[in-house]
Amino acid sequence: MRDKYINIILVGYGGKKAKSFRINKRTLKFFLIGCTATLTGLLIFAVATFYQNLSLKTEVSKLREEKRKLTVLLAKEKRRTSYLEQFREKVEELEGKLITIDKFLRKKGIRKVPSGVGGARSRIDIFDVEYVSFLQDEAEKAYKYLSRIPLGPPVWGRITSRFGYRRDPFTGRYEFHDGVDIKAPWGTPVRATAEGKVIYAGWKAGYGKTVIIRHAYGFRTLYSHLSKIKVRAGRWVKPGDIIGYVGSTGRSTGPHVHYEVWRHSRKQNPLKYMYVRW
Ligand SMILES: [Zn+2]
Repeated sequence: MRDKYINIILVGYGGKKAKSFRINKRTLKFFLIGCTATLTGLLIFAVATFYQNLSLKTEVSKLREEKRKLTVLLAKEKRRTSYLEQFREKVEELEGKLITIDKFLRKKGIRKVPSGVGGARSRIDIFDVEYVSFLQDEAEKAYKYLSRIPLGPPVWGRITSRFGYRRDPFTGRYEFHDGVDIKAPWGTPVRATAEGKVIYAGWKAGYGKTVIIRHAYGFRTLYSHLSKIKVRAGRWVKPGDIIGYVGSTGRSTGPHVHYEVWRHSRKQNPLKYMYVRW
């Protein structure tokens, strides 16, 4: 029969007594198995913790990247929002201008077509491409309407005689003056005040060298006492086109343009068109 026990003797030094232990072999075996199992367990735990840390670090860097992306997106969104806000303001500004032009045209008795500009709309409508195109068309139409109305003076200069009754410089009697006289240096270009067709270009008794233009909406304009005529009857002119030059032909006391505005065969005060009040 084999010995069940193992003897461990601790030898003493320097006169100390030796000590001896007796351990059951089975107990020692269990003790050693226990130690190995504990060490293995600790090792597994250490390795697992290490890998967990590693994956956490990856997770953190991923989240950091995500955060950076979100910050960029947020900045972009902020810029987009402010751009849309600015866009909305611009569209509203454009609407306001179109409404002003529309009011002006109506006042001049030119446009009765109800416009769809402005009014109650939701915020979303303003970003509608169709609505913006519509505004663009309206602006183009408004420009066309305006370019057909005689606006502004045919030449820049001092008004020497207004529309209405005045003492005639030749006869000294009171007479109705059908237009305005604008004093300007000899040879200054005289320009058409609106788009239209030249219906007369030549000499007119009293008026001297004269140009008459027929415009849309029943308008006609007359420019006289010119030194030289630049256009022929039948020619189509645009606002600002030179039709002749300042002179003193006909019944005139010095270089000036006698300018008349007619509408539906009724004389108008040209000043109402020369200095436009919106
Ligand atoms: Zn005159």
